[in-house]
Order: sequence, then structure tokens, then C-alpha cells
Amino acid sequence: MARILAIANQKGGVGKTTTAVNLAASLAVAERRVLLIDADPQGNATSGVGIDKSVAGMSLYDVLLDGVPIAEAVRQDEQLPFLHIVPATQDLVGAELELVGGEEREGRLRKALEPVRGEYDYILIDCPPSLGLVTLNVLAAADGVLIPIQCEYYALEGISQLLNTIRLVQQNFNPGFQIEGVLLTMFDSRLNLSKQVVAEAKDYFGAKVFRTVIPRNVRLAEAPSFEKPILLYDVQSVGAKSYLSVAQELIKRVESSGRGKSGGAK
Ligand code: ATP
Ligand code: MG
Repeated sequence: MARILAIANQKGGVGKTTTAVNLAASLAVAERRVLLIDADPQGNATSGVGIDKSVAGMSLYDVLLDGVPIAEAVRQDEQLPFLHIVPATQDLVGAELELVGGEEREGRLRKALEPVRGEYDYILIDCPPSLGLVTLNVLAAADGVLIPIQCEYYALEGISQLLNTIRLVQQNFNPGFQIEGVLLTMFDSRLNLSKQVVAEAKDYFGAKVFRTVIPRNVRLAEAPSFEKPILLYDVQSVGAKSYLSVAQELIKRVESSGRGKSGGAK
């Protein structure tokens, strides 16, 4: 049974998509069956793994608004056999409005994922930088959320809003929902500020914070323009190694507690 994880923070540009793409690829090379779902109309996770958005085919929009079975929207990654993707296109912008009047408007993704949950070990969902109905669908469908926090000024600004939304989701749609982990991103060891953010996040979230911190790394910033996860672009880079290490931490957390794939951590 897949562990379903939302990657969310309504703050823009904190590393959600970078984390979704590279954690998905890192889990896939560890031979975990991964479904990466792009829930952001910007479609950066879609292009980040090399899927051409202009090529016709089903996307998350068709699943949420037209009831298309999610299996029909799934694409196979060309280079990583354990990685599947559900792409997002620009029309997902309209989904926010179109969902408002719909029935079961927060529960659609949850329902859509039921038939494929058994086919994956991890389902990772990249959220847009908002707390609208699409994000709510994702949070209602997930077992937990992984929150990337950028090591910069006002890093924790807006976190209380996210925590309120998480509580709302727990109370109304998804009682078992939890914070799976907090990942510090774009760490710069030369800056005291970066260290300060790490300390603050640890104070606030305790053991939820991943031990691996993602450094600011130019290779991570370059990889999207080559439409590749970092480990297919430069596996020796510190960025690639960091995400491989986060994947190992996640595998340990999920699989040793019996919540995910059986057989324990590798
Ligand atoms: P949005 O809120 O717009 O969806 P996001 O939270 O998904 O943004 P990303 O797109 O992952 O954030 O990252 C924002 C920018 O920072 C991108 O250009 C990305 O390539 C770059 N970036 C992300 N992580 C790193 C890193 N560790 N080192 C250097 N650049 C990074
Ligand atoms: Mg993004």
C-alpha cells in the first residue's frame, strides 16, 4: 500500500517542486515504486522529469473534473522504470473555480487514488503555492505532508497558516493526517541566517525535521532546464547526494514503522 505524501507550503519558491521531483527519482532508484503527481498548473514537476506538456494526453485536471480514472493519466518515466507521473497542465488553474460548486469537492483526489494505491510504494504530490481547493484535495488524499522550508529571512512566516489548514483537514476530512517531515532547503553554510533557520525549525518541529539539509547547489537549479532530476543530470553533485540521503531517511521512517512497503528499510 502506497504511503501518500503531499509536498506543501503555500509560500512560493521554497523548493516544493525540486523536492517532489528529486525525492521521487531518488526513491525510484532505490527500487521503490513511485507515482509523482503534479498538482500545480505551473507544471514544473511535469517538465522537471522531461514530460512534454504540449503532447496531448490526460492530466490531473481530467481526473479531478471529468472523473477520468487516474490510471489513464499515468505516464511512464523514460529513464527510471520505477517512476510514474501524472502530469499537470495550465487548465488546472480553472479547477480551483470549477471545483467550488462540485459535489465532494475536497474528496475527489482521495477517491481517484483508491484503485491505484496498491500499485505503488510512494505517491508524492507536488502542491501549488496556495491553500486553495486543489491543495485541499491533495491534503485530504494524503497520509501526511512533507513541508520544505527555505533557509532564508521569514522562513517560518506563514507556517501557522499551513498548520491551521492541516488541523482543518484533520478535523474535517482526514483524521489520520500528519506531518511526515520538514525539509530545510537552500541551506548556505556561509550564512549565520541559514543556521538560525535550522535551529528555529528544530525548536518548532523537533524530530520531524529531516537530518539531511538540502544545500543551495547550482546543479539543482540547473537540472530543470535539462528536464531531468538531479541524479540523471549530475549524480556526483552535492544536490543529488542530499536528495538520495533524504530518500533513505524517508524510507527508514516509513518502512521501519510498518506504514509503507513491508520488509523494512534497505
Ligand atoms: P513554487 O511555489 O513556485 O511552486 P517551489 O516551492 O516549487 O516554487 P522550486 O521551484 O522547487 O520551488 O524552487 C524555486 C527555485 O529555486 C527554482 O528555480 C529551483 O531550481 C531553485 N532551487 C530549489 N532548490 C534549490 C537548491 N537546493 N539549490 C539551488 N537552487 C534551488
Ligand atoms: Mg513548485
